[in-house]
Amino acid sequence: MPFIWREYLVLAQHLQTYVSPVFSQEAAFRCAVSRSYYAAFCHARNYARDHQRFFPSNKADDHGRVRLHFKTRGEITVAMSLDRLRQWRNQCDYDDTISGLTVLLSSAIAEAQKILAHVSLPCWMWYPRLRIAFPIDELWDDGICTRWLERYLHPDGLTCPHGGRSERRLFRPQGHFPAYRCRACQGSYPLLTRTVFAKTRQRPATLVR
Ligand SMILES: [Zn+2]
Repeated sequence: MPFIWREYLVLAQHLQTYVSPVFSQEAAFRCAVSRSYYAAFCHARNYARDHQRFFPSNKADDHGRVRLHFKTRGEITVAMSLDRLRQWRNQCDYDDTISGLTVLLSSAIAEAQKILAHVSLPCWMWYPRLRIAFPIDELWDDGICTRWLERYLHPDGLTCPHGGRSERRLFRPQGHFPAYRCRACQGSYPLLTRTVFAKTRQRPATLVR
């Protein structure tokens, strides 16, 4: 299973508040700035590769090439954010002394969040209803696909077909999909209720491909 690069950003945020008896806060903060950059860079590189016909060289020059790719597409803010992050990351990984590291880390996390939000497919908004495409790099199991399908098929929220209430609990699954029992009327309904997929026998991960 390919690594999900945005997990590095979660790690960076964790290091921001983590207090260790065995290493200094400076070591944690330097590491977190560096991880923030790689979360954003590798995510952006893979997105460009998978959706925008960018061909990585898988060498050091990819750092510049990815920025150039987004600049050429007119997505200057992504290129600029990546460049800022890379400079901060270089400082943290090479310089003997750094001032204002706390602020630097907050800025690095914010920049990485900006890039991850910008460089992603809001696919449930963009794709026409019946031709489902899915960001393959984010697809890895039925659980993820089920959550994605719920957002895609019920953009206003999944509600009970009998009374429109949203309070629910899990009920026995129907095929590969979860079903729910309404807390208000005790009626049961599957995730795929009132959709074109209501009678499907396929797995969630197959359905969204
Ligand atoms: Zn109900």
